[in-house]
Amino acid sequence: MTLEQVTLEDARALDATDPLAAYRDQFTLPEGVIYLDGNSLGALPRATPAALADVATRQWGDRLIRSWNEGWIDAPQRIGAKIAPLIGAASDEVIIGDTTSTHLFKALVAALRSNPKRHTVVSEAGNFPTDLHIAEGAVACVPGARLNVVAREHLAAELDEDTGVLLLTHVHYKTSDRFDMPGWTARAHDAGALMLWDLSHSVGAVPIDLNGANADLAVGCTYKYLNGGPGAPAFLYVAKRWQDALASPLSGWMGHAAPFAFEDAYRPAPGMKRWLAGTPAMLSTAALETALDLWADVDQHAIATKSAQLFDILAAAGDALGLDCVSPRDPANRGSHISFRHPHAYALTQALIAQGVIGDFRDPDILRLGLTPLYLSHEDVWRAGEILRDTIETESWRDPAYSQRLVVT
Ligand SMILES: *Cc1c(COP(=O)(O)O)cnc(C)c1O
Repeated sequence: MTLEQVTLEDARALDATDPLAAYRDQFTLPEGVIYLDGNSLGALPRATPAALADVATRQWGDRLIRSWNEGWIDAPQRIGAKIAPLIGAASDEVIIGDTTSTHLFKALVAALRSNPKRHTVVSEAGNFPTDLHIAEGAVACVPGARLNVVAREHLAAELDEDTGVLLLTHVHYKTSDRFDMPGWTARAHDAGALMLWDLSHSVGAVPIDLNGANADLAVGCTYKYLNGGPGAPAFLYVAKRWQDALASPLSGWMGHAAPFAFEDAYRPAPGMKRWLAGTPAMLSTAALETALDLWADVDQHAIATKSAQLFDILAAAGDALGLDCVSPRDPANRGSHISFRHPHAYALTQALIAQGVIGDFRDPDILRLGLTPLYLSHEDVWRAGEILRDTIETESWRDPAYSQRLVVT
């Protein structure tokens, strides 16, 4: 299937009626850049530098330790509650802190320990690396536990009476393939397993309904589509029905029922607070909270509609060039990035970056372009398609300078 080419006039007409158009001004983006990597590091919200300066100079500099009682200590739950509506969770089912990797570890170990009759974590081959690495580390910490990593088409057949947890990433970081959340959650439950979703590539990109799907556990990044800033605290969701039964293996004082009672023995706090380990990182937490305030009024369906339109513009450009698009054509089956397979994807990515179109490369042969509906216009994406066309047609990517490998791709 090939899509009809979109003209500059078409793109501008879509921008003129775009209900999200006003959000662009809420972000600081450099002149001359079309930023197609907000799925890896979201753009800087305009309000963030001043919010960070306030935390540094007033909250820290003037208020000093008093700030812990003036909004810092309960920030992890308060901010979790701001993420909750974006993922279909109740406000007391989400907490922020740590990293996605750390939350994965805690959730996996807790889930395995909660049902010692089941020993296996099932996950997908080619899942995001940290998910598999952490799962490997988590099973090594639980006697008898094991990790079973299989290709997507074999996942269903691997769910059985020994499966403790099915760990899946909702939207695939390379291809943009999206799992059917209610369907796979039901399959895990039919096998008697818990369902743990990684939402890193879907939160802020596609509508999510964890409660509607009856999901048990979820984790996700906040520095991608949510724009929380480099290394921003991640979120953890634990369904209400599991909150008393599961306990964090990282039993730190901030997750204690009474941290300032300074008891020797650990007693987990009720609710989500037990998932904290150490002291919240307030500078990055403040940046995240500022970014989330932008999301308060965003209509998730407007995000989905615009994401699909942006995708179609680049998919049509790719079709016209004969590029191999590896992302699903049906918007219901994908996230908000488009990936093309190309034998010289690395050089192609670098050539695009040199022309101000910032996307990224995923080993071995994927050019990945993130489509963030909050701050990209249809015209931006149309222009990116034109630059892609020029780069392919002139083969300007063949310049040897574009083949020098950097550490972060
Ligand atoms: C980006 C991403 C992560 C990153 O985890 P960190 O601990 O923040 O480095 C984890 N899982 C998935 C699926 C991701 O896309």
